[in-house]
Amino acid sequence: MAEEILRVDNLDKFYGDWQALHEISFSIERGEVLTLLGPSGSGKSTLIRCLNGLEEYRSGTIVFEGQKIVPSEKNWQKIRQKIGMVFQSYDLFPNLTVMGNILLGPTKVQKRPESEVKKEALDLLERVGLKEYADAYPRQLSGGQKQRIAIVRALALKPELMLFDEVTASLDPEMVRGVLEIIRELAEKDDMTMIIVTHEMNFAEKIADKVLFLEDGKILEQTDGKTFFRNPQTDRARKFLESMDF
Ligand code: ADP
Ligand code: MG
Repeated sequence: MAEEILRVDNLDKFYGDWQALHEISFSIERGEVLTLLGPSGSGKSTLIRCLNGLEEYRSGTIVFEGQKIVPSEKNWQKIRQKIGMVFQSYDLFPNLTVMGNILLGPTKVQKRPESEVKKEALDLLERVGLKEYADAYPRQLSGGQKQRIAIVRALALKPELMLFDEVTASLDPEMVRGVLEIIRELAEKDDMTMIIVTHEMNFAEKIADKVLFLEDGKILEQTDGKTFFRNPQTDRARKFLESMDF
């Protein structure tokens, strides 16, 4: 039986008086990749941030691993150890080495032994081709390298679910592919459950089990990846794909 890892029911989010998300409902099973698509300003980042406790929502429920999340900073701190997130801007600590950045969460928050985490961190760095940068500082890395480190840092917490919000959007074109390859490998080899916001449509088509298409904070289409990319149901989604040269 497929295990539902996350379920969102009727989520409403307001910024002041203005409603940014309208009755968002969807679910994702363990091992699935859900791609969140939609034009700029449609609410993708807002939704992703709600799923990690970075934004408050007014009503609706989020159920993670069978437990309804009771929103409080303390609860979210616990949940964030299981829901990893990587943003567009890699927010590495500039005063810490690559290894220092990676060790921080697992040793300080999860209180795991440094020697054990270090070993895992080196394996992860090797996977993303950056083992020799363990002692480098973020300023010595390119954007693409920093983003790969940000992914490793999130993975070091051994999350059950990963959220990726336009992680390649600020990278030079030649850096994009390496980062997307890593995400794809996580999906295919590790069966990592993930929610991905991306403007890379070819990548999205290859990786998406499910697609949520948002506009103006509402879900316009919710379908499997194949259907969305080959046979979108709404004019809006068709136009969106065209505008992305897909
Ligand atoms: P997307 O990620 O799809 O581009 P966002 O979730 O960033 O969209 O934004 C959705 C809408 O919410 C936009 O109209 C945006 O201007 C608005 N918005 C985002 N963040 C805030 C905020 N902190 N305060 C007020 N409005 C916001
Ligand atoms: Mg966004």
